[in-house]
Amino acid sequence: MGNREQLPNTSAHAELDAVIVGAGFAGLYMLYRLRNLGFSVRVFEAGSGIGGTWYWNRYPGARCDVESVQYSYQFSEALQQEWEWTERYATQPEILRYANHVADRFDLRKDIQLNTRVSAATFDEARHRWTVVTDDGKQVSAQFCIMATGCLSSTNTPKFAGLDTFRGPVYHTGQWPHEGVDFTGKRVGVIGTGSSAIQSIPLIAEQAQHLFVFQRTPHYTVPARNTPLDEAYKRQVKAEYPTMRSRAKQMFAGIDFHLNDQSAIQASEEERQREYEARWAYGGVSFMGAFNDLLFNEASNATAAAFVRSKIHETVRNPALAEALSPRYVIGCKRLCVDTGYYETFNRSNVTLVDVSKTPIEAIVAEGVQVDGKQYTVDALVLATGFDAMTGALARIDIRGKAGQPLREKWHGGPRTYLGLMTAGFPNLFTITGPGSPSVLTNMLPSIEQHVEWIADCVAYLREREIAQIEPLQQAEDDWVTHVNEVAGTNLRSTCSSWYVGANVPGKPRVFMPYIGGLPAYLEKCKEIVAAGYRGFLLSGAVTSRATALEDSR
Ligand code: NAP
Repeated sequence: MGNREQLPNTSAHAELDAVIVGAGFAGLYMLYRLRNLGFSVRVFEAGSGIGGTWYWNRYPGARCDVESVQYSYQFSEALQQEWEWTERYATQPEILRYANHVADRFDLRKDIQLNTRVSAATFDEARHRWTVVTDDGKQVSAQFCIMATGCLSSTNTPKFAGLDTFRGPVYHTGQWPHEGVDFTGKRVGVIGTGSSAIQSIPLIAEQAQHLFVFQRTPHYTVPARNTPLDEAYKRQVKAEYPTMRSRAKQMFAGIDFHLNDQSAIQASEEERQREYEARWAYGGVSFMGAFNDLLFNEASNATAAAFVRSKIHETVRNPALAEALSPRYVIGCKRLCVDTGYYETFNRSNVTLVDVSKTPIEAIVAEGVQVDGKQYTVDALVLATGFDAMTGALARIDIRGKAGQPLREKWHGGPRTYLGLMTAGFPNLFTITGPGSPSVLTNMLPSIEQHVEWIADCVAYLREREIAQIEPLQQAEDDWVTHVNEVAGTNLRSTCSSWYVGANVPGKPRVFMPYIGGLPAYLEKCKEIVAAGYRGFLLSGAVTSRATALEDSR
């Protein structure tokens, strides 16, 4: 594994072509592309291993809810052919093994500096370069600074009164201990009922003496129907990878599944039931493809929501408990969860649901959690309370653009970008799957690849023409932000309190952050802009030759 010491080029004033922040799937592929272009690159990674999200999120039951054959890189046909996924949905350890395999296969580690958090990045206008400072006090200079910091990487720990007085261990699902946790014989409290909680609760319940689930808002979840992949299926997928990948690019969410192209309210009750039953039996997020208007028409959406509620009532034996677990808002508004045995878990005698929707958690005390004057005694606490999504990881870094403007200040009222790739006033700073791009509304792997390829093509274009910098024009950014907001308004996803709108972090501005115009429209837009000579971007300045730059730095 790479570390600070092993890197050849760690002098305090190293001059690089590019710095990449983060060694998850985005950072790894960005490094691969830039290295192939002959760029000098260093990746800084805060973790002591690569893998990003899959390095940190090791809670029990963690696995991807996009099918493994789709949640994987497609840039290398050889990689696609040689890697063997074992299950329909890969577990966190399997995905992490895959990331490590990629790093080894493409010899990426030598440019990755682990255990190093980037604390600041400042643009030097005279030199068209970024000065990037790390938490060990060192700094490097790079023409391009590429944020591969992830959309869901900055954990959100609510400020519960008394949290620090709790006598037992507190675990956040997004920062799970690498050695694992044994809950055998323990009373455990899980706070939150989003995807991370929904995956971990069934497994924690199997181990714990008693599990208390503190639920503020029930989430909709559909069964995964996970299964091992048989040889025949794997052979077929490998033979059809290119067609599957190009079908996926034509889908709104970038995932290849069958979309039933008819309206839910125009179908008969019987047709609807048949379709929903078939999707429920098949499992996974393709449930939302049952009809073409589930996220655009409230009446249509209500039919799908009612179907899921009926399944909850079928599964959970206690009707009052079933009702408490039944969401009453738009299905798919908060991200749809995918589970294995979640609702069934509430039939166990060692599981108690504590509704904190009307009376919030008052305090954490030494022995447990206090709600509505009652104390729930626990030995360990699990915070499945999510992330400061999309902007959190960037806000942690002191990023300063032209005239020293802090990015935090520019984004005070919500993130503003052009295509989710760049932001005006911060030349040569790229964000992979940044706010304003489809990112979290799509299959992340292909969206990452598209951004990486766009950025690699862009910097190669600049280099060929000896252009020193690129940044969005203010007008282009403003128009894009307006467009992002307009399309958000046409989709039911913007209608509830979710991390998509920053509602889970007190004080965060309420802005629908990802681009919800669909992946095909977005891909087209990105291509058009490039074909028009990077329309909406200002390309300026002449590059001082690299030799001179290196000379200067000595
Ligand atoms: P999340 O969806 O944001 O869920 C956080 C949970 O904590 C919610 O139930 C939330 O309640 C609750 N919560 C937050 N603050 C609280 C407070 N002060 N008091 C009580 N409850 C509180 O976070 P997540 O489950 O970690 O998932 C985040 C995203 O990560 C997912 O949507 C998904 O995109 C990704 N993810 C993917 C997978 C996968 O592929 N399988 C797995 C895990 C996560 P409210 O709903 O009321 O805010």
